Amino acid sequence: MLHIDFDNTYARDLEGMYVPVEGAPAPKPEMVLLNEDLARELGLDPAALREPAGLAMLTGTAMPEGAAPLAMAYAGHQFGGFSPQLGDGRALLVGEVIDRNGRRRDIHLKGSGRTPFSRGGDGKAALGPVLREYILGEAMHHLGIPTTRALAAVATGETVYRETPLPGAVLSRVAASHLRVGTFQFFAARGDTVRLRRLADYAIARHDPDLAGTEDRYARFLDRVIARTMALVAQWMSVGFVHGVMNTDNTAISGETIDYGPCAFVDAYDPMAVFSSIDTHGRYAYARQPVLAQWNLARLAETLLPLMAPENPESALPVAQAAIERAPGLYADAWRARFAAKLGIADPIPEDDGRIDGFLELLGAAKADFTLSFRALGAAARGSDTALWAQLKGAPGLDAWLADWRARIAAGPGGAEAVAERIEAVNPVYIARNHRVEAALAAAQNGDLAPAHRLLAALSAPYTPRAESADLETPAPEDFGPYVTFCGT
Ligand code: AMP
Ligand code: MG
Repeated sequence: MLHIDFDNTYARDLEGMYVPVEGAPAPKPEMVLLNEDLARELGLDPAALREPAGLAMLTGTAMPEGAAPLAMAYAGHQFGGFSPQLGDGRALLVGEVIDRNGRRRDIHLKGSGRTPFSRGGDGKAALGPVLREYILGEAMHHLGIPTTRALAAVATGETVYRETPLPGAVLSRVAASHLRVGTFQFFAARGDTVRLRRLADYAIARHDPDLAGTEDRYARFLDRVIARTMALVAQWMSVGFVHGVMNTDNTAISGETIDYGPCAFVDAYDPMAVFSSIDTHGRYAYARQPVLAQWNLARLAETLLPLMAPENPESALPVAQAAIERAPGLYADAWRARFAAKLGIADPIPEDDGRIDGFLELLGAAKADFTLSFRALGAAARGSDTALWAQLKGAPGLDAWLADWRARIAAGPGGAEAVAERIEAVNPVYIARNHRVEAALAAAQNGDLAPAHRLLAALSAPYTPRAESADLETPAPEDFGPYVTFCGT
């Protein structure tokens, strides 16, 4: 029996900020992937999710008691241009549950059919992008990076039409919330300060409850969102992740990574790496992510001005501006902490920035594999440089860099083995490599889920090398070519 204790605060408290919706029928629902551990963490019975009532919920066809399915309104800057109305056009919020750790989590479906926000779209999703979001999101989670998670991927039995006919599917994902910068923009753009205030107070109660009721809560909330977003982007950078569509509607207030579309992990290091077919100007290239995050946060700050100073919103500008101007410093600190740890430096100081940049420059010059090069520092700390030299292809400057780095880690705490272990604890062996993801999706479309399961198993413990997954460590063969991914629509 599917029984879920929903507690739907969004539906209850934020009337007028969503539209109640129903999912489209799914002619022949079939479970493709179910995240049983996550289901249990949410207090859901995995077996019940596999039964017809579970599949009906996970496709949006029929909801269990207590669900309050709705499509959320939001706006957003997409590639710099403002769309006053986006909203859940192919998604719905099923409801909220309190998980085993006492945390409130949204259960949300993507690909569940048309809503009043669909505009010209069909409201559907194809199996490939659904599995992509599943795999990439789980990879991020197990890397220890805040993210929405995948609960299930269910095939609908329906054909969806993109460039070609494709099998349809619905992703159910779990998030700390689905509040986005774009949610605030929706009401700010309409001058609806009453709803905007309700939304902001709701967000504060949900994500920063210690600020609830305080006089300067909107300014402090802005500070919090800025801090967690910049910390998140530093984490992305530390694993070579390129989000691909950092529009304000894809920027969560919670500090979680959200909306995996044309995202990817870099293999050969290139600061201007872009994988998205639609990002022709490289707006969301790897190295631009911190700046674009700050830009998105400035859009959030603008929406909060009328709440910070209701009589005269402009008078709040200096406070908002100062908050935004702190973002680069917050990012720099988070970046240094992450990358210094990757180099085995336990006590980072600003002077380490040059060491980190120096290593990244060597990687860029040699077009070395980002993941394997950092990982090879573990062996280098133990005294064996062979793997590192192989990655860096004998880059000039490596000798000098190594000498400086060895002196630096020798001056820090712990012996060589402790340093190596620290390095290997934060530099993954397994990332979701593009060619492996593509192969897993292609096989799944032909009904073979073995490669997806195998990849997910490796990604579930990314810091631990295992003989049976050795082939998943290496970059794509030359003939895989430059990688381009498409929006997950
Ligand atoms: P995304 O690119 O996934 O961040 O989506 C941007 C906007 O387009 C959101 O409002 C989506 O709901 C909407 N959208 C994307 N794909 C579809 C689709 N197949 N049908 C309807 N709306 C869609
Ligand atoms: Mg989106």
